[in-house]
Amino acid sequence: MTPLMRAHELAADWNARFQGAPALDVLRAAYAEFGREITLASSFGPEDTALIDLACQATDRPRVFFLDTGRLHEETYEILNSVRDRYGLNIELFFPESSAVESLVRKKGPFSFYESIENRRECCGIRKVEPLGRALAGARAWITGLRREQSVTRTDVELVEVDETHNHILKLNPLVDWTYEDVVSYHEERRIPMHSLVGKGYPSIGCAPCTRAIQPGEDQRAGRWWWEADDSKECGLHVDESGQITRASGKANS
Ligand code: SF4
Repeated sequence: MTPLMRAHELAADWNARFQGAPALDVLRAAYAEFGREITLASSFGPEDTALIDLACQATDRPRVFFLDTGRLHEETYEILNSVRDRYGLNIELFFPESSAVESLVRKKGPFSFYESIENRRECCGIRKVEPLGRALAGARAWITGLRREQSVTRTDVELVEVDETHNHILKLNPLVDWTYEDVVSYHEERRIPMHSLVGKGYPSIGCAPCTRAIQPGEDQRAGRWWWEADDSKECGLHVDESGQITRASGKANS
């Protein structure tokens, strides 16, 4: 059996065992299985702060990483600091390669991402995708705050997927079935820090120049890369090499 087949078998097994299970149960099992070889991706949006709170109940000092693109809102650093203090976490920060950023901005200017999808993906590739590869080096699994309800690009996300872009490690999405209301209620119940832009109409928060507030009734990710068509709105962190959002378990190869 190839490593890829083994990974899909493992993902299918996790999906069968934990379908519909509470997020905390999934996380407890994940930390029991992977120990320090599982890491949690956080951009400090509301899903991620809920996940960090859950992870801190599931294990002692979970690994959490953060991709600092260099184009983030000031408020993102404020929530990072609040979370760091509250949970005593040593958050792993990853920055883009400075030479790649310098070269991009010299050649195309600071706002090239508005000019075309290719330019936007180039910027995301340098500032997010390449650092993600370094953040996941050596990991056997990672945890994300993806939810099916978030957007049209995420409706068939599974609880556990195989990340075919990153050495066939597992990607766990414990909040996959949560609604936005579930996320907000969880924050209220647990009194955990919330990114201050959420209250200003930003349910999804990325880089400052590429995120705007949404209007009532709009898709929760409508404010991300708002100038692009809906089906283009992924930054590369959750898509495979063909540009498709990663698929899960036994369905992945079908
Ligand atoms: S979200 Fe915008 S600024 Fe951030 S990496 Fe992507 S294109 Fe660049």
